[in-house]
Amino acid sequence: MEKKLAGQIALVTGGSSGIGAGVALALGQAGANVVVNYSSSLKGAQEVVAQIEAAGSRAIAVQADVSQEAQVQAMFKEAIEQFGTIDILVNNAGLQKDAKFDEMTLDQWQTVININLTGQFLCAREAIREFLRRGPRPEVSLATGKIICMSSVHEVIPWAGHVNYAASKGGVKLLMQSLAQEYGDRKIRVNSIAPGAIQTPINKPAWETTQALNSLMSLIPYNRIGQPDDIGKLAVFLASDDSDYITGTSILIDGGMTVFESFATGG
Ligand code: NAD
Repeated sequence: MEKKLAGQIALVTGGSSGIGAGVALALGQAGANVVVNYSSSLKGAQEVVAQIEAAGSRAIAVQADVSQEAQVQAMFKEAIEQFGTIDILVNNAGLQKDAKFDEMTLDQWQTVININLTGQFLCAREAIREFLRRGPRPEVSLATGKIICMSSVHEVIPWAGHVNYAASKGGVKLLMQSLAQEYGDRKIRVNSIAPGAIQTPINKPAWETTQALNSLMSLIPYNRIGQPDDIGKLAVFLASDDSDYITGTSILIDGGMTVFESFATGG
């Protein structure tokens, strides 16, 4: 694979499983050295680190809960001490705590907002502070820094029974766009990836049985579930100079879910 990210340093939150693991590996294969953040699965993070090293890049695993300011700051400090700077942040960590709205507890609401939205704020703020501190690195990239926010088709599609999650991703959309607006003149690019259904632990009930998978396919015109590698390839594009004129946008990657398959018969 062409080493489009050679000499750059990436930090991927929630990098020990699913999409984050796929993205961390793809960035490593594209030549970036990678900080693989994890919250609880050291083993998962170590496996991703080993795969990146096997692909010829350097990687370290760093524990931090992205919703905790002090832990996020300590993670960036360690990353910068180890690798010198950060060029690419992938704000990927996220979770669901599903409940009917009238039964949703304040704890379920706050846990999702704290991790999915405040976590992205805390990590983006540290990344932007570092980009501003060190300034441009024209030897590795046209942009001074790049932030990729993991959003969801649920920044577009409302989601009954998942109001906390949909609200968090709607928040990520305008967090991302406002940052792109505020820091574009400093050559910092900020974009979102908005996946549809990707086969990871977060949505196991949606694909673990044939019946569930068939039902899921009724939502996806392209008729297959997405894989972390699909997202990895898009993350490499958004992190590289190939996307240098792209900032402030969400790229849907959903097999067509947002063209609303249920209207396909024209009825
Ligand atoms: P996943 O459960 O495999 O990954 C989520 C990761 O976030 C895990 O590694 C988890 O440990 C980590 N995490 C959770 N809380 C954390 C915290 N407080 N601090 C640090 N890390 C934490 O699921 P996934 O599907 O890979 O999800 C990754 C991202 O993609 C999420 O933001 C999710 O909302 C988004 N997404 C997933 C899908 C999908 O279909 N899988 C679709 C749209 C968006």
